[in-house]
Amino acid sequence: MSQPPVLISEDGIQARVADLAAQISADYEDKGDIVLIGVLKGAFIFLSDLSRRMTIPRTIEFIAVSSYATGSISSGAVRLVMDVRGNIENRHVLIVEDIVDTGHTLKYLIGILESHRPASIRTCALLRKAESAEVDVPIDYVGFDIGDEWVVGYGLDFAEHDRTLPYLGIVDPEV
Ligand code: 5GP
Repeated sequence: MSQPPVLISEDGIQARVADLAAQISADYEDKGDIVLIGVLKGAFIFLSDLSRRMTIPRTIEFIAVSSYATGSISSGAVRLVMDVRGNIENRHVLIVEDIVDTGHTLKYLIGILESHRPASIRTCALLRKAESAEVDVPIDYVGFDIGDEWVVGYGLDFAEHDRTLPYLGIVDPEV
């Protein structure tokens, strides 16, 4: 089977993740312990690389939402599949997302996490499809801005396939 064409290479991803980890570590240096909340499933590889490169005290939580039925068209309707398990009240929270497309998912997540009364919430996305934004949502740390393409690999899937590709590739959802 042919492999999806490369959008961002493995080395390119690793270099950018190292930059983000350094920037986040510097920004939170005086804040003490932070909690990184990975959004399942797509952010699991990004979160694991990012968190291991950070140099400040940190703990890990996961949250799971469902925003697309099975395909690639955003319905805008987001559903909570699994909430965080640990207590994040009065903690500094960083949401770690794979990709922000319309922004509906991130906006929904911020609302859910605000109800847990953290000390602060910031957001980090490996990828942002700037042209597709439908809602205004703050993204404090962005890995790469990309166009309106369906991206797979490094945790991201198409119908559950291609998550374990080491690079970010492009697939045509029509094929
Ligand atoms: P939004 O609510 O911002 O439209 O969509 C965010 C979610 O849609 C992401 O967390 C991700 O699960 C999914 N998504 C959006 N674009 C892509 C893409 O190009 N590839 C993959 N694999 N998922 C995407």
